[in-house]
Amino acid sequence: MAELGYLTVIGHEDVRLRLSRAAELGRLPQSLLLYGPRGVGKQRLALWTAAMLNCTGGSPRPCGGCRACRLAARLEHPDIHWFFPLPRPKRVSSPDQLEQKLEDYRAELLEERRTNRLYHEEEEGATGIYVAAVRTMRRLAYKAPAMGPVKVLLIGQAEALVPQLGNPEAANALLKLLEEPPADTTLILTSDVPGALLPTIRSRVQAVRVHPLPTRQVAEFLTSELDATAADARRLASLSSGSIGRALQLLDEARDNLQEGGIALVRALLDGGPAARLAAAHAYRSFGARGAFGRVLSETRSLLRDLLAVAAGADSAAADPELVASLGSTASSPEQIISALAAVDEARELADRNVNPQLIVVNLLCRASLAPGTAPIGSSALEGRR
Ligand SMILES: [Zn+2]
Repeated sequence: MAELGYLTVIGHEDVRLRLSRAAELGRLPQSLLLYGPRGVGKQRLALWTAAMLNCTGGSPRPCGGCRACRLAARLEHPDIHWFFPLPRPKRVSSPDQLEQKLEDYRAELLEERRTNRLYHEEEEGATGIYVAAVRTMRRLAYKAPAMGPVKVLLIGQAEALVPQLGNPEAANALLKLLEEPPADTTLILTSDVPGALLPTIRSRVQAVRVHPLPTRQVAEFLTSELDATAADARRLASLSSGSIGRALQLLDEARDNLQEGGIALVRALLDGGPAARLAAAHAYRSFGARGAFGRVLSETRSLLRDLLAVAAGADSAAADPELVASLGSTASSPEQIISALAAVDEARELADRNVNPQLIVVNLLCRASLAPGTAPIGSSALEGRR
């Protein structure tokens, strides 16, 4: 079985059928715009289309098995060029140097995407598709294909081109390319804000609408590609607005929240005082111990295990040494950490029995302390509930 990699497309059967029929008939426009909400898989569809156009296997194309498909699936096809917004390089002295730096960045990010197919665009810092990148596109478009019948230039988040095109020369170069691409070149733009594209760009591309995915398909993706439980997958999918990208982002946020919850509990253990106990307890509701709260306790447990490894002298054993250092727990003894671990295990049992999370937290913090020089206080206040 071939590794389909980037040729895996979730859903969008209608668009794929439309594109492949047009291609079979030789009627696929050479300048396409795939537009639709963010994170629904427009760039995947564009890569899939690029592979379809280069596939040398039988129909349905892309077959996934021929050399062209295998290279495309790994983002290694020499005639499929994927552009997307990049940070502006610093300290460049000439247009050539700028173009080279952008190409270096692009190669770096493509390498990251080869190893992590579940990447999703980070929204940090200013990025753009710069005039220098348009120069690269033109250069590639007018070169003969290295391997297949056609070259495909894929321009993700094409709206990022716009602010750069105040430069009329560059704007004209791009417009000319879109209007009359060389016979062996197809351009596929994607955008979630097509209204932000210049009218002169929009009028030169054939627009194809890409719809949000059905919730069911987002949930299937989350259970098959990630280790989401069926219940988590359903919940996230229902919040995703049909966007896998959004679901991935929510998943990341949920993980961050769990970790923050774990860090807060460890900090309260380190503090050991009654005020910290109450504050930690008030971070939770008085019900719902079996949901996210249980996962916060698991997170707390893994943080404590890291602290223990460090306290026992195994510096490199922690999964996140910086985080462990930031907790500043060097003063806690291994014995204290071991008793805190036991208290967290007890808390997890109580959470399984659906005891009020606020009580569980107070109980945990009474049972164990990582504050220097304190001994465990005593037996569980909730012992009687067993
Ligand atoms: Zn193929």
